[in-house]
Amino acid sequence: MSESNIIQYNNLLSTQTCDVLIVGGGISGLTSARELLKTDPSLKILIIEAKSRVGGRTHTIELKCAGGGTDKWDIGGQWVGKTQTHIMDLAKEFNLEIYNQYTDGIKWFQLGTSEGKQYNPKHSEMDNIRHYSVFEILDFLKSYEKLGKIIDSINVKDILSSPHAHEYDRITVREWFEKHANTRFLVDAGEVITKNLFGVTASKISFLYFLIYIRSGGSLDDILDNTDAGADALKVGGGTQQFSLRLASIVGWDKIYLNHILLKLKLLNENSDETLVEAIIQNAVDETKISKVTAKRVIMAIPFGECSRVRFHPALPFDKKQLFDRFPQANYIKFIATYQTHFWRQKGFSGEIFASGYSENPMETRPLHSVYDATSKNGKPALVGFVNNETWSHAAPEARKQAILKDLARFLGDEALNPIDYIEKDWGQEMFTGGCPTGILQAGNGEAYARAREPWKTIHFAGTETATVWIGYMSGAVQAGLRAAHEVLLKFGSRKVNWDHLEASFLNPRYKPQLEWDNSYKKLNSKL
Ligand SMILES: Cc1cc2nc3c(=O)[nH]c(=O)nc-3n(C[C@H](O)[C@H](O)[C@H](O)COP(=O)(O)OP(=O)(O)OC[C@H]3O[C@@H](n4cnc5c(N)ncnc54)[C@H](O)[C@@H]3O)c2cc1C
Repeated sequence: MSESNIIQYNNLLSTQTCDVLIVGGGISGLTSARELLKTDPSLKILIIEAKSRVGGRTHTIELKCAGGGTDKWDIGGQWVGKTQTHIMDLAKEFNLEIYNQYTDGIKWFQLGTSEGKQYNPKHSEMDNIRHYSVFEILDFLKSYEKLGKIIDSINVKDILSSPHAHEYDRITVREWFEKHANTRFLVDAGEVITKNLFGVTASKISFLYFLIYIRSGGSLDDILDNTDAGADALKVGGGTQQFSLRLASIVGWDKIYLNHILLKLKLLNENSDETLVEAIIQNAVDETKISKVTAKRVIMAIPFGECSRVRFHPALPFDKKQLFDRFPQANYIKFIATYQTHFWRQKGFSGEIFASGYSENPMETRPLHSVYDATSKNGKPALVGFVNNETWSHAAPEARKQAILKDLARFLGDEALNPIDYIEKDWGQEMFTGGCPTGILQAGNGEAYARAREPWKTIHFAGTETATVWIGYMSGAVQAGLRAAHEVLLKFGSRKVNWDHLEASFLNPRYKPQLEWDNSYKKLNSKL
């Protein structure tokens, strides 16, 4: 049995106590657990995980591949980048092999038109852009520069104080692009970028959050690029679930309770800031089994959308409830297809496709919005891609698979129609995740999000959504896990608290972000 498919699991007793209860066995929760135990091995820690595996949004699977055997691919989080120092440090510590994303060759774009257009890095810029009208090029360059400047102005640790933040909070990404675009090409580019980053259409997401998310990774180039320091430049040989598996081994599997779902958190003394918390936990295999765990501190290392399914007693403060209710998970449908040969490379293609999916036919949206070469560390040919989910989530799996392969063939040739193996996953259907890669803020909720990292009494919040560097990424999950662990250590009076990890923690007396909009007449008049 491979480690990623452990089916034996520990059972919680009907009542248990601990110092820290960690909810969520993804990278963030396991990072918190490891950090707590590294700093204070005497702490009694329990980690509950609703799924039958650790790793959460990272999931490494095996597929049949060229040469007759199998190899590993990631159907969840996959790429890492040089500037993602938290996850890169972990990769180094665990001696994981890091290798480059393949990007050589011609790329396909289908934006503002139903036809695919090629971009050949070996040709001159003039040659490449001759497919587009001068209006499209100027429109794109002007807006890209403008967007870059706005992103630079955002303060991720103090979002409400960023220039024009209140205005950006009120609009969606789509509204910004429509306001600034003179061509359909630019509107489509905004859609494809948003879908590429979040898996949802640009009308579903707050423009302020879009800016914060990108700024947390550096710049637009950093977040979109798959070369140099870009977010998608590097891959992890053997898969990214190894991060959680290695962390789990260090923490100790005896402390990890797979198949245990948090249902409810109750503060035992609502009037005390140091209250014990009682957690009601259901066994996912035998649903009649309920356990009560009493903890001094709880770390919630699950997405906000999943926090909204947990019952809290007493009721949550206004901003926390608002945040959990208005921060749904985005949604990728991700597929991987393995092949006998790198047929696309042989034709000079890099494997990259970025497409709106729209055609000349009314109501038609083709499945692909982005595709990349997914060759494994062992050199086994494969393609990985993401699908326009609004249309294709509804399709029957076989019809969707055939449509995806047909769309691949449209750009890369008919060889795409015959993969050796194929897998797809609609993350919106995944219990206890509810979508991916990350949660998204809906417009008008900036104030609630400004408090994302604020503990509530003895309950702390980790998870990549609470990061300040590389929010939504595996690296952000590590950073957030470290912060939450050090908040707990601080509260336990540990002398080994690392203040670097607490830089943007609400428990840091020096951290004083703006938490409300200034709605005074003076301010409003000056903005309108
Ligand atoms: C398809 C896809 C592609 C991605 N691509 C990339 C990429 O290329 N690079 C990158 O850096 N990141 C990528 N990501 C995002 C990355 O995987 C996440 O940022 C990261 O794994 C989040 O870790 P986490 O620990 O914060 O949360 P999670 O991994 O979501 O862990 C939370 C855990 O909590 C558990 N849980 C939820 N509710 C409960 C409950 N009530 N009781 C008990 N347990 C509960 C869940 O089952 C889950 O295991 C991608 C994600 C997906 C799915």
